[in-house]
Amino acid sequence: TGKFFVGGNWKANGNKESVSKLVKELNDAKLEEDVDVVVAPPYIYLDSVLNTLTKRIEVSAQNSWVGKGGAFTGEISAEQLKDLGVQWVILGHSERRHVIGETNEFIGKKSAYALNNGLKVIACIGELLEEREAGKTTQVCFEQLKAYADAVPGWKDIVIAYEPVWAIGTGKVASPQQAQEVHAEIRKWLADNVSAEASSQTRIIYGGSVNAANSAELATQEDIDGFLVGGASLKGPDFATIVNSVT
Ligand code: 13P
Repeated sequence: TGKFFVGGNWKANGNKESVSKLVKELNDAKLEEDVDVVVAPPYIYLDSVLNTLTKRIEVSAQNSWVGKGGAFTGEISAEQLKDLGVQWVILGHSERRHVIGETNEFIGKKSAYALNNGLKVIACIGELLEEREAGKTTQVCFEQLKAYADAVPGWKDIVIAYEPVWAIGTGKVASPQQAQEVHAEIRKWLADNVSAEASSQTRIIYGGSVNAANSAELATQEDIDGFLVGGASLKGPDFATIVNSVT
């Protein structure tokens, strides 16, 4: 399934001082060669992070505008991200779905626009606790996947991040079995609805309370191809441990 992939989603955390400290920690860290490592700082720090990272770490935005730039106050376009040297964008994160109200269709459009403008996409999906408890986990994930599939031009520049909403920022990490079960369903969905190639090549990473103590066991699961890390990505040594948990 390609290289293990570990992303750090910094969300709306940090200030100039903590960001430069974190970059220094990442520059000093020993990172496994055979892992794709990506960090996603807030927009305002993207340029300084791109200019100060000395390691072969790629940089992601946490969002992008749905179409061509212009009169959209407060938004940042995919063209602008590309111009800065940003390689990735996180789209469909649960905080944008459930706090800000982005819909499946809107996220699909954003993904298509970003991909068509040369960005790679970390496409997030995941169910709420009540959806899991109602037995709707796969139904919800498949609807979210379909919205991506209906919109995007192809899957080669997409990494899927399965992030169960109940596990994000709660300290309640999915068990390796719980995560593996959904990852295997996602892979099967890709085979049935996209292509055998997309199913075998697309990396499916897990996010939600991943930390330096639980990542190694999660990484043993067959269909877990990496992680999207929130809180623990703000500490360089912890993030490095997670990067190096590849098996
Ligand atoms: P936490 O690792 O803080 O639970 O956040 C996960 C996440 O939302 C990454 O995108």
